[in-house]
Amino acid sequence: MIIEPRIRGFICTTAHPGGCAMNVHQQIGYVAGKGEIPGMAKRVLVLGCSAGYGLASRIVATFGGGADTVGVSFEKAPSETKTASAGWYNNRAFEAEAAKVGRKAVTLDGDAFSDEMKAATIKAIADNLGQVDLVVYSMAAPVRTHPRTGETFRSAIKPLGAPVTVKTLNTDKGEVFETELQPATPEETAGTVAVMGGEDWEMWIAALSEAGVLAPGFKTLSYTYIGSELTWPIYWKATLGKAKEDLDRAAAAIRARLGAHAARVVSLKAVVTQASSAIPVVPLYGVVLFKVMKEMGLHEGCIEQIDRLFRTVLQGPEALDEAGRVRLDDWELSAPVQDEVKRRWARISTETLPELADLAGFRADFLKIFGFGLAGVDYGAEQNPQVVPAIA
Ligand code: NAD
Repeated sequence: MIIEPRIRGFICTTAHPGGCAMNVHQQIGYVAGKGEIPGMAKRVLVLGCSAGYGLASRIVATFGGGADTVGVSFEKAPSETKTASAGWYNNRAFEAEAAKVGRKAVTLDGDAFSDEMKAATIKAIADNLGQVDLVVYSMAAPVRTHPRTGETFRSAIKPLGAPVTVKTLNTDKGEVFETELQPATPEETAGTVAVMGGEDWEMWIAALSEAGVLAPGFKTLSYTYIGSELTWPIYWKATLGKAKEDLDRAAAAIRARLGAHAARVVSLKAVVTQASSAIPVVPLYGVVLFKVMKEMGLHEGCIEQIDRLFRTVLQGPEALDEAGRVRLDDWELSAPVQDEVKRRWARISTETLPELADLAGFRADFLKIFGFGLAGVDYGAEQNPQVVPAIA
C-alpha cells in the first residue's frame, strides 16, 4: 500500500515504516557522529522507549554509551491493511540497528503500569542483562489502571482553582485564538497525579530492587517539564505541574531508600512529541520558542537534548537546582531566549504568526514523529505495513 499521513487533530492515525526507520537511523547518526560517551551505563532499562525522549535515551545509551537495553512501551502492531503505531516501527528499527553493532535490545510491549509487565521486564533483565545500571522513566500516558486497587485514573490537562484565558494555536489551520479553560475538579487533579506523578516510578524501582536486578550504584532518571511562565497556567501551575511535583517527592523517597544519588528528576526543554502536541498553549509557545532558539543557534530536539544530558551534564559534578533536579532546560529558560519569546508573545496573532514563529518547522517535526517527510524515503513506493525496511 501507499502510506500517507492521516491527521486527526493532534494525532496522526497512520505511520510510515520506512520513514520511522529513517528517523531512528538519523538520530543514531547524530549520536554516533559525536563519538563514544565515556563512563556511560552499559545495561539500561528504558520505560517509554518507543518515542520522544525515551527513544532518544535508548539511542544515546546504545550508540553513544555502547549499552545493551531492555525497553518497555505500549504500541500497536500492524495488520495486513493497517499501519502500526509509529513507536512499534521505531522499536523494530532500533532493534535492527542495535543488532548491527552487536548490542542487545529486548523490547516488551504492553501496559507498564501493570504488575504483569513489571514481572515480565524483570525476567527479561535477568535473562539478558543480569542487572541494570540505569533506569530511565520516560512515560507519557493519558490513563493508568492502578495495579493494586484496579481503579482507572485519567489525566486531565486543566488549570487549577479558576478558569484561565489563554492564547493557543490550531496547528492545522495556522490560527491563533484565545480560549477559556475551565479548572480541574479535585478528582481530576488527583487523577492526573495518579497517572503522571511518581507512584508508578517508585513501584518500578521497588519491584526491580526487590528482584535483585538493580546493580550496585545504579541510577534512575525521570523526565519533567517546568517551562516558562507563559505556559505555567496550563502546565507547571496546573494539573500536570502537580503530577510533576509528585515526581520530585518520589525522587526524594527513592534516594532516601536506595542512596543519595540513586534518583534524579531531569527537567527537559519543550519539543514536539505526541504527548506535548496534545497540550493547549504548548504548540503556540513551541512555535515561537523554536523560531527564537533557531535564530540564536540554540535549538535542540529530543536527540540533541538527551545526547547533551549524557555526554556533558551528567559527566561533571552533580549540578542541581534547589529541588534537587538536573536542568537541561537552561537554554530554553535563559533570559535572552525568554525575553525574546515574551516580546513576540505579546504580538502573536494569526497575521503575525509567519513572521514571529516557526509553524512550518513544528509541522515538519510533527510529521516526522510518524515517519513522514524524511529525506531519503520514497513515499510513492508500495510499502508493506508489516515490514520495517532496513536502512543501509
Ligand atoms: P511520547 O509521547 O513521545 O512517548 C511516550 C512513551 O510512553 C511511548 O514510548 C509510549 O509507548 C509510552 N507509554 C505510554 N503509555 C504507556 C503504558 N501504559 N505502558 C508502557 N508504555 C507507555 O512522550 P514524551 O514527550 O517523550 O514524554 C516523555 C517524558 O518526557 C514525559 O515524562 C514528559 O512529561 C517528559 N517531557 C516532555 C517534554 C516535551 O516537550 N515533549 C518536555 C519535557 C519533559
